Amino acid sequence: MPAEARLTEKRSYDAIVVGGGVIGLACAWRAARRGAGVLVLDRAHPPAGATRVAPGMLAPVGELDFGEPELLEMTLAAAELYPGFVAELEAATGEPAGYARMGALHVALDRDEAAELRRVHDLQRSLGLGAEWLPPRRCRELEPGLTPSFNGGVHAADEAVVDPRALTGALLAALAAEGVEVRTGVEVTAALLDGERIAGVRTDHGEELRASAVVLAAGAWSGQAEWLPEHARPPVRPVKGQVLELRAPDGAAPCERIVGSERVYLVPRGDGRLIVGATVEEQGFDTAVTAGGVHELLREAYRLLPEVAEMELVEAAAGLRPATPDNLPLVGPGGLDGLVWATGHYRNGILLAPLTGEAVAELLDRGKLSGSMAAASPGRLAGSAARAAR
Ligand SMILES: Cc1cc2nc3c(=O)[nH]c(=O)nc-3n(C[C@H](O)[C@H](O)[C@H](O)COP(=O)(O)OP(=O)(O)OC[C@H]3O[C@@H](n4cnc5c(N)ncnc54)[C@H](O)[C@@H]3O)c2cc1C
Repeated sequence: MPAEARLTEKRSYDAIVVGGGVIGLACAWRAARRGAGVLVLDRAHPPAGATRVAPGMLAPVGELDFGEPELLEMTLAAAELYPGFVAELEAATGEPAGYARMGALHVALDRDEAAELRRVHDLQRSLGLGAEWLPPRRCRELEPGLTPSFNGGVHAADEAVVDPRALTGALLAALAAEGVEVRTGVEVTAALLDGERIAGVRTDHGEELRASAVVLAAGAWSGQAEWLPEHARPPVRPVKGQVLELRAPDGAAPCERIVGSERVYLVPRGDGRLIVGATVEEQGFDTAVTAGGVHELLREAYRLLPEVAEMELVEAAAGLRPATPDNLPLVGPGGLDGLVWATGHYRNGILLAPLTGEAVAELLDRGKLSGSMAAASPGRLAGSAARAAR
């Protein structure tokens, strides 16, 4: 199909962004700020990818895992960029993005969990990260609603959150202010190819839209982008996550900061809502909310903060994290001249959106990837191993 697509010029852009999740919108906004003519296309109306489901923790310390130094460097750089990004966005639109530097408390509920948390804390300290071990009494001073019996916790005071739905709203307003068209309910079905160069896309509305560059920001669906030739599809797979939204009857959430255990995390919003996340399931593209998933989240939330039993269950949802074989995103030139991958952000896409947006804008503008995103370059997949792991 892509090879036969004919180039019948209708409209031309500097860049067409495929996908209107947080990554696509951030790329479009940063590129537009540099003067590029951008079009964003999303097949859902409104866009309903992982971005709508994520609690929005901006948590380099809490998400730290063993053996991922490049990811840590990237998430720390992203966390530093966030306040400025949000301030610029809010100044441009007057719309709040729900950013709050509230900190996080990771609690060990028994001795086994305490041993594991100590191990992680040792790693955090060895890397010079802001994380302090606290005995139960000190934890309870921070969060009086915690369960009566537990074995201590780690306080990471610099962790923050953003409300991804509010952030999306602010990005859409910012794009409108820049004159960028965001078209939802429009699916990209074919690439317009000019030899090994992508010259635009065809949509399910029968349009052929030309651009100097096409940005693939299709989240978990990026690896299945059948509208691209196979060698231009990134090795991205979906990893399902279920989350719950609870609401306090008196409008006051039962915690002031992110509270987590080994199995669950709780993210308070200023208006009394509490987001409970998240399962991690390899279930392909299935997004069913299951009784088992909801049960597990509620049980573990209750073990941490018994008060959740009194809260209203407002929403249960599932989303698909765009995962890569090495858990690093894929940002940079991808398989065809003019094609830019901006995908594979797995568990950190909300956090990495400003950094990714800036890197893609720079790539479109100057043809090079900025230093802080260098480890995300698709060039690292040159071997066949990563492709085989898809
Ligand atoms: C349960 C859960 C919890 C998470 N928690 C956090 C967190 O606390 N902090 C954090 O930083 N990250 C978190 N993440 C990860 C984060 O949500 C994702 O990494 C991020 O949202 C990915 O954004 P995206 O724009 O790449 O993809 P998406 O938001 O999935 O958007 C992709 C879009 O592409 C569109 N699309 C696909 N194919 C086409 C096509 N052919 N034509 C047109 N449109 C197309 C889809 O409709 C979709 O809207 C979480 C994810 C999940 C699922």
